[in-house]
Amino acid sequence: MKEPCGCSCDDIQSQLCELVDPGTTPEQARELIASISDCPQCYGRLQSEQEIRAMLQRCCTAQVEAPAELRERITMQIRVTRFRA
Ligand SMILES: [Zn+2]
Repeated sequence: MKEPCGCSCDDIQSQLCELVDPGTTPEQARELIASISDCPQCYGRLQSEQEIRAMLQRCCTAQVEAPAELRERITMQIRVTRFRA
C-alpha cells in the first residue's frame, strides 16, 4: 500500500513501531525520525495524535501507550534535524 505522496505505508508504520519500542535508543530514534521527516506529507500526518494512534494500531507490535510522548519525541527531534540542515 502506498501513501498519496508515494511513500510506503508499511515502511512508515514499521518506523513508528520502532520509535515506540522501549529498546530503541535516542540515536536510533533520531535516524527514524529523520527518515520520516524526509517527506513533509508523512511528517505532517504525525503531528496529529489521531494519525499516530491509527498508524500504530495497524502495526503488528502495537502496544500504544504514549502517543503524546512519541509526538513530543518527534517534535523535539525534527527541530534538531532542521537545525542541522
Ligand atoms: Zn510520504
